[in-house]
Amino acid sequence: MHLEVISEKMLLAGKWRDAEKTFDVFNPQNNQLIAKVPLATEKDMLLAIEKGNEAFKTIQFPTNDRIHVLNKAADYIEKYNEDYAKTIAKEGSKTITEARGEVKRAVKTIRISAEEARRINGETINFDQNEGSENRVGYHYRFPIGVIGAITPFNDPLNLVAHKIGPAIAAGNPIVVKPASVTPLSALLLAEAFINSGLPDGFLSVITGSGREVGETLVTHPLVTMVSFTGGLETGKRIAHQAGLKKVNMELGSNSPVIVLNDANLYDAVRSCVSGAFSAVGQNCIGVQRIYVEKEIYPKFLQAFVEKTTHLHVGDKMCELTDMGPMINEKEAKRVESWVEDAIFAGAKLLVGGKREGTFYEPTVLTDVPESAKIAKEEIFGPVVIIERISSFQEAIERSNNVNYGLHAGIFTNDIEKAFHAIQHLQVGGVMVNDSSDYRIDAMPFGGMKGSGLGREGVRSSIEAMTEPKVVCFKLKGI
Ligand code: NAP
Repeated sequence: MHLEVISEKMLLAGKWRDAEKTFDVFNPQNNQLIAKVPLATEKDMLLAIEKGNEAFKTIQFPTNDRIHVLNKAADYIEKYNEDYAKTIAKEGSKTITEARGEVKRAVKTIRISAEEARRINGETINFDQNEGSENRVGYHYRFPIGVIGAITPFNDPLNLVAHKIGPAIAAGNPIVVKPASVTPLSALLLAEAFINSGLPDGFLSVITGSGREVGETLVTHPLVTMVSFTGGLETGKRIAHQAGLKKVNMELGSNSPVIVLNDANLYDAVRSCVSGAFSAVGQNCIGVQRIYVEKEIYPKFLQAFVEKTTHLHVGDKMCELTDMGPMINEKEAKRVESWVEDAIFAGAKLLVGGKREGTFYEPTVLTDVPESAKIAKEEIFGPVVIIERISSFQEAIERSNNVNYGLHAGIFTNDIEKAFHAIQHLQVGGVMVNDSSDYRIDAMPFGGMKGSGLGREGVRSSIEAMTEPKVVCFKLKGI
């Protein structure tokens, strides 16, 4: 186990490899160089894909072996959990406490993958429902589809990679992962867990390098049967366009709404929305971005929300008392700063926050944001939340839907009729009742509508996407 990494290797078909060139990985908190990582070339990517395909064609990898490998990898991560947490916290934005939470989730994701591997079932088909087919019997079963190409983002650098590798292995598919260039170390450490768990060579490659340079090869290669992408909308559109006629799973961004109705438990709503807006510095695909509060409780909600936000401790990621660390880099922090400034220029009111220092951006609350402002329409992916007064429940539903995203939404109410109305009419992949949009477990189907993506992740859904049903039919002569 290595942690103070200066010079990393990438994993190419089960073997650790250098590349001619490297790229630098920095700690966003202080801009310190923490690692040099191989800058893969197209040739490396091609080799990883070909080796993956070769392994798929030649290695017997029965379910009991897959379950064993997955559980051993989970044991390994559990054993070295603190090293994993420190790596996440060092290369990314998360505080050490948040990073520890991510490690626990990654272990769970891999264990669920092991469990789900037992349940990759088909069913019998009653062919005799058709006239003339009375003498036929058969079934369908699910078969692995071959090399999976996975591309992952920076914000959950371990668990989102586990969400690709776990289901791929459970299904019996080799996988080639291209992790985010700003946070490749957690993915490499995850690969270490699999390599130490007896995964056959060829079934896993973690190819580090620029998405723009090696991504297209992974996406377009004919031996890659499915592309599983998690990242931003623009990258997702480009990849979907390049992939053409192959399976594609797109887990993209959002600007999630939460509706707070008059009868809600105010304390719960405030606590949950503050956490949902600012955890991981708001760099969270289901983070709370827009809160619509019924006008009668709006003043109380706003006051309590601002007060709680003011008490958040922003600072050193490695300190256990810190609530919020830095953003992933200064460019992103400056982008957030400019979106807030533009909104204020257009008439929005700043209630708290709004200042930047290097990569740190204060937790920020805005109200009266014009609907046309970028921050009200696009994904901010930073520690900024908009709280608006609404005159009716219907207005809240309409404004929630009036964007090009639809991943998760939350609603706080004790009125069951209104909860069900929201469930039916919100155009999203998940509605959390009496929780903010930022609620998820790793076993549930996860994904969105509109610009938030295509298909569903979550172990079982991913396994389904990474397998296909094959129909078997016997024609019997009869005796
Ligand atoms: P990003 O900029 O879209 O990058 C994601 C990945 O795509 C990185 O590995 C990147 O590689 C790669 N990439 C970039 N250009 C590419 C290309 N032309 N071809 C192939 N790959 C390419 O996203 P991010 O900033 O890392 O992550 C933030 C976004 O992810 C947000 O929008 C967030 O909402 C979304 N997200 C969604 C979910 C979900 O499950 N729905 C979960 C987490 C995050 P490089 O790093 O080398 O550029």
